[in-house]
Amino acid sequence: MCAKQVTKIGVLTSGGDAPGMNAAVRAVVRTGIYHGLEVFGIYRGYSGMIDDDIVQMNSRSVANIIQRGGTILKTARSKEFFELEGREKAYKNLAKRGINGLVIIGGDGSFRGAQKFSHEFDIPCIGIPGTIDKDIAGTDFTIGFDTAVNTAVEAIDKIRDTADAHDRLFIVEVMGRDAGYIALHSGIATGAENILIPEAKTNIEELVNSLTEKEKRQKLVNLIVVAEGDEFGANEIADVIRKRLPQTDTRVCILGHIQRGGSPTCLDRLIASRMGYHSVECLLEGRNNVMVGILNNKVHYTPLDKAVKAKQKITDDWFKIVKILAS
Ligand code: ADP
Repeated sequence: MCAKQVTKIGVLTSGGDAPGMNAAVRAVVRTGIYHGLEVFGIYRGYSGMIDDDIVQMNSRSVANIIQRGGTILKTARSKEFFELEGREKAYKNLAKRGINGLVIIGGDGSFRGAQKFSHEFDIPCIGIPGTIDKDIAGTDFTIGFDTAVNTAVEAIDKIRDTADAHDRLFIVEVMGRDAGYIALHSGIATGAENILIPEAKTNIEELVNSLTEKEKRQKLVNLIVVAEGDEFGANEIADVIRKRLPQTDTRVCILGHIQRGGSPTCLDRLIASRMGYHSVECLLEGRNNVMVGILNNKVHYTPLDKAVKAKQKITDDWFKIVKILAS
C-alpha cells in the first residue's frame, strides 16, 4: 500500500493495441473526474511520457469512443524507457504537473516497465491487462481477446464456405506469438479438425494420420487452425501435408492484423469499463503495483510481478474437446 493520497493521475496505453482500450481509457478518465481527480492522457505509451506528450482530459475528451477500436491515446514501444535515463525524463514530466498516480493499459511488457518505474520514483502504478493474447495470469479476461476471437471466428466461417465448395483443406493462422488462446477458442468455435498452439507439442505424424483417416471417412471440410507461435508455422505445416498427402488441395490463409482492429465486443467494453473504474478506486485506496483483473466474474488484484511471470494453463480437457468434437 502507498500512503500518499493521489490527486492527479495519468493514463496511457502501451505495447500492442487491443480493441477495448478506448473503453478503459474512458472509464479511467470519468471515474477519476467523478472523484475530483485531475486526469491526464499520456500519448504513445511510455514514449509520450518521455517526450512530454501529455494532455489534461475532461469528460468530453472521451466522448464517443467506447465503440471504437484502436486507442485514442495511441500506443507505442519505447526503447528509451528500458534505460534509467529515459525513465528519469518521464518522471520529470509527470512531476512538473504533479501527477502522482498512473494507470497503465497494456501487456506484461508494459507491466514490467511500470514496476520498475513505480519502484524507482515512488509513483503508484496500476495495470489493466490490454492484450488480444489473454496470456496474463490473475484474470480470466484481457481487453481485446474477445473481439479478436470473434473476428477470427467470422473470418474462419467464411473460409469454411470456400473450403467446403472446393473440398479444400485450409490451414488458417491466427495471432498468438506465445499463447494459443485465440487459436484454441476460435478453432473450437468454428469446428476445426486440428488446433496447433505453442502450449502443446505438434505431432506431425499424428496430424497426417488424422487427416488420412478423415479422408477415408469422407469428411467434407477440413480446417486446421494454427497459432502464429506454434513451433511449425502454417506454411511449414502446409508443405508437409502437400508432400505427404499430395491428393489434398491444401491452402493457407494468414489472418494477420485484422484481428487487432474493429469495434470491441460487448464483453470487451464491459470488462474494460469495470477494470478502468476499479483501477482508479485502487489508486484512491492507496494500492500500488497491482493489476486489476476479473476472476470468476469478481474483480481481483494481482501484484504486477505475478501478472508478468505466470501464464494461464491450458488443461488437457481442452485438447480432448477438440479431438472428440472434430470426429
Ligand atoms: P506489451 O505491454 O504489449 O507486452 P511490450 O513488451 O512491447 O508490450 O512492452 C511495452 C513497453 O514497455 C516497451 O516498449 C518498454 O517501453 C516497456 N518495457 C517493457 N519491459 C520493460 C523493462 N523490463 N524495463 C523497462 N521498460 C520496459
